[in-house]
Amino acid sequence: MSSSASNLQPTGVPGEPAASLKQRMVLLGPPASGKGTQAERIQARYGLAVTSTGAMLRAEAQAGSELGRAAEAHTNRGELVPDELILDLVAEWLEEHNGAFVFDGFPRTLGQGIALEQLLAERGTPLDVVFFFQTSEEVIHDRVLNRLTCHSCGHVFRMGLQVPNEDAACLHCGGKLGRRSDDNEAVLKDRLAQYHEKTEPLVSFYRERGILMELSANESPDAVFSQIVNVLEGLA
Ligand code: AMP
Repeated sequence: MSSSASNLQPTGVPGEPAASLKQRMVLLGPPASGKGTQAERIQARYGLAVTSTGAMLRAEAQAGSELGRAAEAHTNRGELVPDELILDLVAEWLEEHNGAFVFDGFPRTLGQGIALEQLLAERGTPLDVVFFFQTSEEVIHDRVLNRLTCHSCGHVFRMGLQVPNEDAACLHCGGKLGRRSDDNEAVLKDRLAQYHEKTEPLVSFYRERGILMELSANESPDAVFSQIVNVLEGLA
């Protein structure tokens, strides 16, 4: 790690984000680039509300709702879920959050990016920063094929590193671990194709707006978080 940023504490009232802290952000990147892991760390350190559209869809599918079933037909094929369904979920979520938030895995199409920009402009809460998780395809494959997700709390573990195998219990809540139905080689190929075609154009979209920050996301979670802290606290 090149700096001591990971030792810095946020300034301001304890438990409250500092006034100068960047607190409206998007985590953008390919599957398994570490967005969820970093979202958890940002939430733990700054108390910001996080939403992952992927996790929301999995919760809907687990609950057996109509939306969950409709979404699952897409996710299991590695396809993106139609913008209308996602935008309804996000608009509803934003109603309950007051101008400080982390979006993990949303937006994922230019249409979603434009809709989010309008939604936030109406509320007077534009994005402060978009973190772009730059990751090699080799690392993505390795992470997806060794990723276990808790069925109860959604926490993610690396098999062979944090937990020995799929029979281990969740280290956070004791829940059952398993592979996501879309975490396999065949579906990953399609997810990556969708990413390149539909999501990557958002990189230029946000670069043009001057809010894109590129992260070296092949590095360890600590090293990536240190890069994020520097940006959020205005140190980089
Ligand atoms: P994730 O958990 O972010 O990897 O998302 C899992 C799957 O949910 C994706 O492969 C998509 O099928 C679907 N999904 C999640 N977020 C979105 C989104 N913003 N737009 C469209 N589909 C999404």
